[in-house]
Amino acid sequence: ADADLANIVTTRRDESMGWLQSIVSKGLGWARKYSLFTYPYATACCGMEYMSVAASRHDISRFGAEFPRFSPRQADLLMVVGTINLKQAPILKRVYEQMAEPKWVVAFGVCASSGGFYDNYAVLQGIDRIIPVDVYIPGCPPRPEQVLDGLMLLQDKIGNQVHRIADREEANPTAARHNLLLS
Ligand code: SF4
Repeated sequence: ADADLANIVTTRRDESMGWLQSIVSKGLGWARKYSLFTYPYATACCGMEYMSVAASRHDISRFGAEFPRFSPRQADLLMVVGTINLKQAPILKRVYEQMAEPKWVVAFGVCASSGGFYDNYAVLQGIDRIIPVDVYIPGCPPRPEQVLDGLMLLQDKIGNQVHRIADREEANPTAARHNLLLS
């Protein structure tokens, strides 16, 4: 009987902690998704379209993501904008590692997503070979509307996320494998 009582108390305590955790998670998700600080890792022509999204016509500030930060320590969204060649790959990975959790990554355009038409020995065939990616935005370059659509997808994801660092490598074993290769 004592063991049954202890089980009931433990279950009730777990349930109430789960409820509390879910409320706190939702609150944090709501706050985080509307206050993204972006590190724009722009290397090529897609950078023009990034500027267009940030300018007044498309106005990314409507989504709470208007502040670029050029220190990875002050950013929680890494926006990889353009072609990444193999020489740059370790630098991109280092920037990603310097960002504090929680952090998210967007592959902006086909070059960042898959290497694009640069299917050759010098270009990384998708940044997800070295770091985990949360949202891929297609296009060469993507239109500003596509970028905003991708940003809203990311916001949905952040809003529903119960954050666990371990999830990243579990969700992206390819990146984990390539991390080993690069380190
Ligand atoms: Fe340039 Fe197209 Fe590659 Fe963007 S996706 S960096 S526009 S080649």
